[in-house]
Amino acid sequence: MPTTYQMYIGGAWRDAADSATFPALNPVDQQPWAHLPQATAEDVDAAVKAAREAFDGGWKYTNGLTRATLMQRLAELLEAEAERMAQLETTDNGKVIRETRVQMRFAARNYRYFAGWADKLHGESIPLDRPELVDFTTREPRGVAALITSWNSPMAILANKLAPALAAGCTVVIKPSEMASVTTLAFAELCERAGFPAGVINVVTGDGSVGAALTGHPGIDLISFTGGTATGKAISRVAAEHLTPVTLELGGKSANIVFADADLEQAVTGAVAGIFAAAGQTCIAGSRLLVQREIYDRVVVQVCQRAQAIRVGDPRDESTEMGPVATQAQHQRVQAFIQRAREQGATLAVGGGVPQGEAYARGYFIEPTVFTEVAADAELAQEEVFGPVLAIIPFDTEEQAIAIANGTAYGLVAGLWTQNLARAHRVARCLEVGGVWVNTYRTSAAQAPFGGVKASGIGRERGLHALDEYLEIKNLMIDLSSEARDPFAIRT
Ligand code: NAD
Repeated sequence: MPTTYQMYIGGAWRDAADSATFPALNPVDQQPWAHLPQATAEDVDAAVKAAREAFDGGWKYTNGLTRATLMQRLAELLEAEAERMAQLETTDNGKVIRETRVQMRFAARNYRYFAGWADKLHGESIPLDRPELVDFTTREPRGVAALITSWNSPMAILANKLAPALAAGCTVVIKPSEMASVTTLAFAELCERAGFPAGVINVVTGDGSVGAALTGHPGIDLISFTGGTATGKAISRVAAEHLTPVTLELGGKSANIVFADADLEQAVTGAVAGIFAAAGQTCIAGSRLLVQREIYDRVVVQVCQRAQAIRVGDPRDESTEMGPVATQAQHQRVQAFIQRAREQGATLAVGGGVPQGEAYARGYFIEPTVFTEVAADAELAQEEVFGPVLAIIPFDTEEQAIAIANGTAYGLVAGLWTQNLARAHRVARCLEVGGVWVNTYRTSAAQAPFGGVKASGIGRERGLHALDEYLEIKNLMIDLSSEARDPFAIRT
């Protein structure tokens, strides 16, 4: 029997104002397994008001230790419930259980990391030209934050936003993706159990119209969004109306660059991690593998062998390495990309279809797919597929690799594989991205800032700088003197 969930607004559990719901479908068999409220504009308004009341009513004045203690309690609860939460998330979006388990613990780690900052948000004392002027800054929470997440990693992505927001003293309204909302509502129960005051954390569910109602609400003080670039642009336009600050974590077409001097075994493993983990449904997918000509054939053979050996199946099975893609729309979209790449002349080396057999019959499965000799300007090398489809592109020189890597609209991350330290530094400096991995790929840390440039986004998550997105700097200047001044000339 599907479970029916409610939204969490102002510390209370509620249906949508008009009682409308939508089903959550399991991507393995397309069966509805949960029903979720489709929020109305009235519900969004109630959530924003609850967040405002909680902010003005005291949360913004709580001391850092109180916020940190609550966040540590939340992290403990998430760790204790990690297995249940991982099972829910795997059922919701089809991501393999071996990854969702890690993601729950990593989300908890992020709450612990930002809890550590909550009581250390001090300003600066600034010496001015005139000794009689005392100047210092304070850092204050921005207010009510709208946190909008995508379906591919709901809990991990939420932690990137909610942890710094709570540490900074903001209150929030969360809107998860309609494709995977269950864990966010289950997580709201953990927030309630942790003891956060009513209204500090609110969750509304539903489709993009709910996100639009939230981002357009005049009571929102900042927006943090993770999702597609087109949606990010639409949100920016709405935010401009109210001059609401935005943090955007958007799409990518990341280059994983293998130089001839690389440790090939490691590089091939990095290539596989880059594109076939999470069935390629990750913003940091290393969807372009750039390989230096001298080792091109060897790398292609090894990557293809590894791709063919990937165990595709039920994501709840611990031995499964790649599950289905999350939705029917995504299933069709990825297949259309494959079809067009074939028509446009890329060489299909592995996969390209949907796996056959009873186990796959009702799920959104796609074979691990590798195209070789892909032109750097081909659609497959330019557009985000968000599926298990790798484009391998040869290059000759370092300069060429840099030009190809930078030659897309995106700029999220890049991977470099080389034993040459000078080259690693040289190339990393030239790459137009928010993060570079050298001799590793798809490795994350709570302390390391993450985010993109160009069409991949604005702002940073994780690490110390993420707090800046949720804080305003206020300057205080105090005149200790009582000397007479000319009121018609600015004092400097
Ligand atoms: P999406 O843009 O379709 O949806 C994301 C969220 O925005 C959902 O909650 C959706 O309901 C909401 N939304 C839709 N229209 C809206 C509107 N007009 N106003 C406000 N909210 C609206 O993205 P998706 O399909 O869920 O996720 C896939 C995309 O997310 C990919 O492009 C991927 O690269 C990106 N992504 C980026 C990161 C990152 O950190 N850079 C991480 C994960 C995913």
